[in-house]
Amino acid sequence: MALESVKNILRMADEAGTSVISFICIDYNMVYSVIKTAEKANTPALVMLLPEHSGKNNTFSIKGFAETAKDLAAGVRVPIGLHLDHSYDYESVIRAIRLGFPSVMIDGSARPLKENIELTKKVAEAAHILGADVEAELGTIGLETSDSAEKKGIYTDPETAGLFCRETNIDSLAISIGNAHGVYREKPVLDIQRLEEINAATKVPLVLHGGSGIPDDQLREAFKKGINKFNVGTEFIGEYYKALVDYTRLKEKEDNPFKLLEVPRFVQERLETYLEAKLKLSRF
Ligand SMILES: [Zn+2]
Repeated sequence: MALESVKNILRMADEAGTSVISFICIDYNMVYSVIKTAEKANTPALVMLLPEHSGKNNTFSIKGFAETAKDLAAGVRVPIGLHLDHSYDYESVIRAIRLGFPSVMIDGSARPLKENIELTKKVAEAAHILGADVEAELGTIGLETSDSAEKKGIYTDPETAGLFCRETNIDSLAISIGNAHGVYREKPVLDIQRLEEINAATKVPLVLHGGSGIPDDQLREAFKKGINKFNVGTEFIGEYYKALVDYTRLKEKEDNPFKLLEVPRFVQERLETYLEAKLKLSRF
């Protein structure tokens, strides 16, 4: 089937009291594996591009990524959504929508509240005219580093979240409740009470970033309490990297350049095993 709108998938997740998982994908093998495993597990999923991967290392053009996801989604019966992760300015978001992304994130969370509202509102107005869905962020989702100030981020305030959603007319909101990007050094503890308060103060589906390494029991609890989209990047990318290392070790004695043709399927099988287990968290 054609790509499903992210807004509809998030609504389905909300009705089922669960969360869709949104996987950061860097290349064809990752996009392919997410869509094929979602089909096999009969579980909706999102494929997501982090613009800086495309911009810095030419892993995939924005248009090429969107076309690939559309092409692969057309061949399966399960709802697949396509989403652009963290974008920081109006121009790049609008450009990505025009290049084929039906759902985007504008992240103004590093700006003062008033500026974040202004930017997000402007993006949402234009995106909605173009038929795209918009995720925004409030509170800063820290980066997992040794710097404790940076690590903590700034937790989302429930009352401000309510105001932010009313002012901006966004479709989903990424919040900070103890989650962080990257690899956690200590076991994370999500502030579930804060999540419940944010959920009560807002009407839009909530999004949890920094999903690699949060224990499953905390995730299930968060999904029941209002998280309807959950982003995974580091863990998924790590599986790919490990597969490449293993393949190289396995084949290092073989002097046949055409072994290169075996690499995609080797990687895809490993990713599919990981994804199958991960998708069990999503209970549609
Ligand atoms: Zn994020």
